[in-house]
Amino acid sequence: MTITYQVKNAVYVNLTNRCPCACTFCLRQNGATIFGSPDLWLEREPTLEEVIASVDGWDWTKYKELVFCGYGEPTERLDTLLAVARHMKEHHPDVKIRVNTNGLADLITGGKTAPRFAGLVDVVSISLNTDDPKEYLEVCRPKFGERAYQAMLDFAKEVRAFVPDVVMTVVDSPVTSPEKQARCRAICDRLGVRLRIRPFES
Ligand code: SF4
Repeated sequence: MTITYQVKNAVYVNLTNRCPCACTFCLRQNGATIFGSPDLWLEREPTLEEVIASVDGWDWTKYKELVFCGYGEPTERLDTLLAVARHMKEHHPDVKIRVNTNGLADLITGGKTAPRFAGLVDVVSISLNTDDPKEYLEVCRPKFGERAYQAMLDFAKEVRAFVPDVVMTVVDSPVTSPEKQARCRAICDRLGVRLRIRPFES
């Protein structure tokens, strides 16, 4: 099973298949791979020890970033994620730590999670997807229902105080009009985070 994999000059960590969303565009839905990565579907979740052993297997003189991102939502395993990040900070402090997330960690864990990222994570990249809460519900289909969109925005705002770089992403597609992008930018400006319009598979 693939616990870690390489994308350009970064090593990605695949912690779980679990996710509280069922996005219509999710790569899991159509069996596609990320950047031609190996099959990321996990037969079982790797233990913390297995993840650390896998991370330690890479030559960290060659890679600049460790990214938590797989088929599932990495904050479904927030304790493990942060333990791996701490291990990296202790052994490879020059490597940047990024978490790609749907921003629903508070709802997933049932508590405030933003402070827990302090000193361990350098970049949090949150999928904003849309400026429209109704469309978010239709496209991302979070099991938490209507409260998910606002919870994601709140998390973005709060984690900014603990993580140096917070970015929200919108997938560039024919339905993402310039007007929609502008509205997403306005949301990010209000929250004090960066907006990244990203290609479909990154
Ligand atoms: S949040 Fe990410 S992992 Fe979860 S269903 Fe959506 S695209 Fe897939």
